[in-house]
Amino acid sequence: MRKPLIVGNWKMNTTISEGVELVKSVIDSGVDQLSVDFGFAPPFISIYEIKKYLNDSHILAGQNMYFEDSGAYTGEISADMLLGAGCNYVILGHSERRHIFGETDEVINKKVLHALKKGLNVILCVGELLEEREAGCEVETVLRQVGLGLKSVEKGLINNVVIAYEPVWAIGTGKTASKDDAEKMHMEIRKYIAKLYDDDVAQRIRIMYGGSVKPENIKELMSSPEIDGALVGGASLKAESFIKILKYY
Ligand code: PGA
Repeated sequence: MRKPLIVGNWKMNTTISEGVELVKSVIDSGVDQLSVDFGFAPPFISIYEIKKYLNDSHILAGQNMYFEDSGAYTGEISADMLLGAGCNYVILGHSERRHIFGETDEVINKKVLHALKKGLNVILCVGELLEEREAGCEVETVLRQVGLGLKSVEKGLINNVVIAYEPVWAIGTGKTASKDDAEKMHMEIRKYIAKLYDDDVAQRIRIMYGGSVKPENIKELMSSPEIDGALVGGASLKAESFIKILKYY
């Protein structure tokens, strides 16, 4: 009942022409859009060009966004700019934004509220550090990020949110969370969403996994009824491996 969703997060990789080539190869491979919602989160400057190769059902996501409409915010990008370039989604709260660029839950929440108000769908990323897992507080950490990230998000807009559970120790390290670890956390997140909203919302919200997803582990991860999709970094940068991931079914 929850349609799988797979998004390639290119991070700070690819020029415009490299991005276009990558998208063209993936689209030409004929991934079945009825089986999986899929798309790309390219660097900002490539978005407009890449949109030309996508249809409205594809996901085209910004990797970040600022929560003001416009103004003196050098280097930032607004929701309207993303929408105007063809985006329908934005990734917020990615661990690299949290840990390299110091984004707090409060800032991320402002971005979430603003993006939803503007009509963008949000992929809200959450995930614990290795130290937090070793200290046994991974669930507490992740649920805190979910709760603070979704603060004041009304029930009418929660349908436009996808949660991405990405344990920080699994991002770009080659270490994937086991299917069981991911499944356990996804269940905790879903239970918490039921508490914040209700069962119906909890059953409908899609929770994707991210962290070293690759062709070799996608099938196993997706075999869990709790894992509704994947946010793929490194393995989305090569058409061949991303296509294999998208055709996991
Ligand atoms: P990775 O990145 O697949 O390279 O681990 C995932 C992400 O950060 O979204």
